[in-house]
Amino acid sequence: MIDTKLDEIQQIIKEQQTYFAAQKTKNISFRMEQLKKLKNGVKKHEQAIAEALALDLNKSELEAYSTEIGILYEEINFTLKRLRNWAKPKKVRTALTHTGSRGYVIQEPFGAVLIIAPWNYPFQLALSPLVGAIAAGNTAVIKPSELTPNVSALIKKILQEQYPASYIAAAEGGVATSQALLEQPFDYIFFTGSVPVGKVVMEAAAKHLTPVTLELGGKSPTIVDEHANIKLAAKRIVFGKFTNAGQTCIAPDYLLVQKKVKQELLDAMKDAINEFFGDKPLESSRYSKIVNDRHYSRLTRYLNDGEILFGGTRADETHRIAPTLLDQVDPDSPVMTEEIFGPIFPVMEYDTLDEAIEFVNSRPKPLALYLFTESKETEAEVTNLISFGGGCINDTLMHIATPYLPFGGVGESGMGSYHGKYSFETFSHAKSVLKQTTKFDFSFRYPSAKNGLKLV
Ligand code: NAD
Repeated sequence: MIDTKLDEIQQIIKEQQTYFAAQKTKNISFRMEQLKKLKNGVKKHEQAIAEALALDLNKSELEAYSTEIGILYEEINFTLKRLRNWAKPKKVRTALTHTGSRGYVIQEPFGAVLIIAPWNYPFQLALSPLVGAIAAGNTAVIKPSELTPNVSALIKKILQEQYPASYIAAAEGGVATSQALLEQPFDYIFFTGSVPVGKVVMEAAAKHLTPVTLELGGKSPTIVDEHANIKLAAKRIVFGKFTNAGQTCIAPDYLLVQKKVKQELLDAMKDAINEFFGDKPLESSRYSKIVNDRHYSRLTRYLNDGEILFGGTRADETHRIAPTLLDQVDPDSPVMTEEIFGPIFPVMEYDTLDEAIEFVNSRPKPLALYLFTESKETEAEVTNLISFGGGCINDTLMHIATPYLPFGGVGESGMGSYHGKYSFETFSHAKSVLKQTTKFDFSFRYPSAKNGLKLV
């Protein structure tokens, strides 16, 4: 992979500013055309995308389709169906004090936007925000992750085939490229990645007062209470935790299980792991590898932070760590204080729901939270008393896959949201206009009014 040079970056942004200023992207038919081009470009290279994901992450074809390619098609189709309606100026009511006037809101594009993507869903997380950027009428530069070079190169190829760089471009490269991009006067920055880099992005954006969306990470708790359907909970937790070998921003990070049902749940989880990945997960083609050396050795250190209940085996040459359940963990140990982002699942137990809620609330606000229960009271307590980006009751991960729900973090897990209409709104400025009547006028508003207006 060749890092995009600073002068090339400067050239691209200049051209994109010119392109945007020509007002072409304001046309809704134009935007829809561009979304269709994106879909066609991806369709054309569908097989190559699956292969690149297999090379970079050992993703299975099924996972490549369901979590990267298919989800992108859905986002495009959903947007194409509704864009004309979203983009119409919306009339709003006016206050009594504004009698005679009318108000409306125009959703206008920001201009040239920058999208920075991570490596864990390297295809989808680069192009799904692009759907919103195009739909809202922006130009865009995408910086794919350097840790998944095959996918990065393919993203560049697809975009180059479909668009002039003066409209949409990929800037490949690592940290230096990312930082060079961040120095440019973009009109909006959409960043997906880690909390520390999120802070770097926000600081850089502040220099140009560029608004940002930060889609970050963190430790997403999974709470299982005594009223849960344990067998189903076990399957859905194992699915969410070990998809992409735990390298998912919204993967269940750790388990909080009510003591009474702990053993039953752990047994059911072991069965589910065996059922999904077989008894040799390190050799399974359905099981992802860890992305690189640094992450692999970081994860292997966590194995010492508790008692291995299940799994714990690994293959250094292929960067694989078996699905692992870790018991007797210290809440202050690294596995319980750092985002795990891998296939290691620490298990904590609790007696009362209050204890579990207090534990989660004593830590940074998570990106996701999962609760397994049949009790409406427990559901109400958890959803009302804990702040989190988004989540599921009786499932994991699935909230990310519906375009009807906003997806994003809160507190340390990020700011802003996207998907479906929320993407369109994220990449648009809501411009408000008040149209005043000229048919009559209230003289009391002016300084020359006889009795004036008393302000209380
Ligand atoms: P990262 O923050 O290391 O990198 C993300 C992007 O930022 C990459 O393109 C990288 O090149 C760039 N970058 C890295 N260091 C930089 C720096 N110092 N200055 C400027 N740019 C820099 O994240 P990652 O390791 O690629 O991804 C994993 C993290 O992303 C996890 O924390 C995960 O939770 C989070 N994540 C969040 C979401 C979400 O939707 N909220 C989705 C996926 C991943």
